[in-house]
Amino acid sequence: MTPSKVQLIQAPTPLHRLEHASKDLGLDLWIKRDDLTGFAMGGNKGRKLEYLLADVLAQGAQTVVTCGAMQSNFIRQLGAACAVFGIKCAAAVMKMPYEHEPPSEDGLWSESGNVTLDKWLGVDLHVYPDGEWDELYTRMEDLAQEFERRGQVVYRIPVGGSSPLGAYAFWEAGLELAAESPPPLVHRGRGQGGGGSGAFDWIVFASSSGSTQVGLSHRFRGTQTKVLGVLSDPEPEMADDFATLSAGLSLLIGEVPLKAEEFQVNLDAVGPGYGIPSEDGNKAISYLARTEGIFLDPIYSGKAFGALMALAKSGEIGGRVCFWHTGGVPALFAM
Ligand SMILES: *Cc1c(COP(=O)(O)O)cnc(C)c1O
Repeated sequence: MTPSKVQLIQAPTPLHRLEHASKDLGLDLWIKRDDLTGFAMGGNKGRKLEYLLADVLAQGAQTVVTCGAMQSNFIRQLGAACAVFGIKCAAAVMKMPYEHEPPSEDGLWSESGNVTLDKWLGVDLHVYPDGEWDELYTRMEDLAQEFERRGQVVYRIPVGGSSPLGAYAFWEAGLELAAESPPPLVHRGRGQGGGGSGAFDWIVFASSSGSTQVGLSHRFRGTQTKVLGVLSDPEPEMADDFATLSAGLSLLIGEVPLKAEEFQVNLDAVGPGYGIPSEDGNKAISYLARTEGIFLDPIYSGKAFGALMALAKSGEIGGRVCFWHTGGVPALFAM
């Protein structure tokens, strides 16, 4: 059965070629503008929320509870989606949650960027001292139960909106990309994606909670298009979480789940850690701003584009490449 959705974003988002960067990097480089969803300052979470909010409404929930980092782009977009439907949005946040060890460097400010927008949206932010992700999940559950004790029907949304419905949204988005793919290359030789179809050789993007990567990986499995997620977190085990999410998505779409080793991930762009801007990421932000007038973000898309530049230079990626811009631009105002 096809999951139902509400309408939040303006889709299809634009797809266009990056002329200067193509020349500089020796690629046929295109960009998929999910920073321009037209919803709540853009970002990849709008797609997921179209399915998640439909489910929230179907369950008759009055309150949505989630968790994340203070500067979460997801919480901002969720807050906007909840506002549209008159649903209360509460989130347990830490300035910088971590996996095992607290980060040694400072991340983004906690009083600007997305946090400012959360305030305008009326998001009920519950701020806790930094701790491990598991602790944050416990805080979120406590918060949800508190609302339930007050008689509310509560809908819990995992970090980044990465439930099977979130992955479904990107399975659908893969089709959107395929439908708007550019015409075949005519003046290219072999090995340059000149096989005749307009398909991409690579899709590269920032990957974290996994639904973007899981959805796109399912859509393009068995095709010439390789789906490469540049991880924003220093956790090699994340592919195991992706496999779990894939199992959930597979139930919705009737496919065989992907195994952890079938996800292509790059771990080289994390820099000082999750939530902390990196030197290479900042260089990439500056590069794309100065060559194409397009802004990336310091935590996800900037690092991912930095990885793309390095992989193009080393020849590890080539041909026709789509950089999927996942948004996050408001975080630039928290640097
Ligand atoms: C959430 C987010 C990502 C990661 O997407 P996932 O589906 O959670 O893996 C990448 N870029 C930006 C800007 C984000 O906000």
